[in-house]
Amino acid sequence: MPPMIEFPLDLPEVRVLKTELKKREIVITVESTRPYAICSRCGEKTFDFHSYDDPIRLRHLPILEQRVFIELRPKRYRCPTCDDHPTTTQQCDWYEPRSPHTKAFEQSLLRQLINSTVSDVARKQGVSYDAVLGAIKRGVARSVNWGEFTSLKVIGMDEIALRKGHRDFVVIVTLRRGDGDIALLGVLPDRKKETVAAFLCSIPPELRASIERVCTDMYEGYTNAVKEQIAQARVVIDRFHVAKAYRECADKLRKSELRELKQELEDDEYKLLKGTMWPFRRNAADLEPEQEQAVSLLLECAPDLRKAYDLREELSAIFDAEHTKESGTRAITDWVESVKQSGLKCFDSFLTTLDHWLDEISNYFLDRQTSGFQEGLNNKIKVLKRRCYGITNVSHLFQRIWLDLDGFKLFGI
Ligand SMILES: [Zn+2]
Repeated sequence: MPPMIEFPLDLPEVRVLKTELKKREIVITVESTRPYAICSRCGEKTFDFHSYDDPIRLRHLPILEQRVFIELRPKRYRCPTCDDHPTTTQQCDWYEPRSPHTKAFEQSLLRQLINSTVSDVARKQGVSYDAVLGAIKRGVARSVNWGEFTSLKVIGMDEIALRKGHRDFVVIVTLRRGDGDIALLGVLPDRKKETVAAFLCSIPPELRASIERVCTDMYEGYTNAVKEQIAQARVVIDRFHVAKAYRECADKLRKSELRELKQELEDDEYKLLKGTMWPFRRNAADLEPEQEQAVSLLLECAPDLRKAYDLREELSAIFDAEHTKESGTRAITDWVESVKQSGLKCFDSFLTTLDHWLDEISNYFLDRQTSGFQEGLNNKIKVLKRRCYGITNVSHLFQRIWLDLDGFKLFGI
């Protein structure tokens, strides 16, 4: 006899009739001890046992990596008060009707699905793709439950492309709680103003009134919808969208300068400048000594590029500094002057952007979020973007993103 152990099955209101150890699976036959059913016609409890249904087999949590099945014959009860005395099958709390799994097993499927894929989970658990989809359908809501929130304060809208290189965007609307913690509020099928406005309008009035900031990219579909539906909220352009815009300007100049240097320099000199792309693009403060050297070599060869690089870093420093909205705006305006005096053309498109969006951009200084928050948020959004490729159904997207963001709170151990 191998060493044996005993432990509780942990399903409420059942009696174990039999346990069979088969090859790589365990079948536990149980009987419900609940003495009644709810009559499907009148909704009253009936204690009048009638018969057993055919046995059902439900996948349950594994034991020592062996698959576990619970077998049970559901009981039928007969209603003594309704006409014709109809019978109803008893429903137990630990499984859903028509589900091939116990609730505990479904929760474990959902937990494993966090940051994973349906096919991966299906394969590892030895269940079908549809079985995992069924668990999502039964266990995860398709849209937000506003009742879970008491106030919103800061919300964010970010667009994500569903396929790489395609321009079909969906918009994810999040609650930004600070410290990079975000909760999903909605997934919108496109970023048209009407779509965004309709969503904002669907937020219960008292919650809508609690919104103080809406963080977005520079896109009028968002800002006009916000102005129309939540007039009291201020639009804040997320710092990283601004940074992306001016950093791309400097990078454009890097490319054209390198093209010229290729003509001017000897091959072995030019070779030294290869591999400077990543160090150039990074923040100066984050560079390793070696990368720093590579960048200074590049900047020595291209004086205009040095100017652009310094201006880029100056603007980042402005966003890093403790500014009020007024002093921040002044600093940016001074920076614009320096750009104009530099004679550089590479920032022209960004200057136009600033002209148009300076108010919303400088709202960033109102309650400057820490870089920790920005980083946490960026990473989450980056991951979400990657996660969403190939999922085109908006309510399924909601369920999957919700699982990634909030799943551990509900299904974690
Ligand atoms: Zn009845």
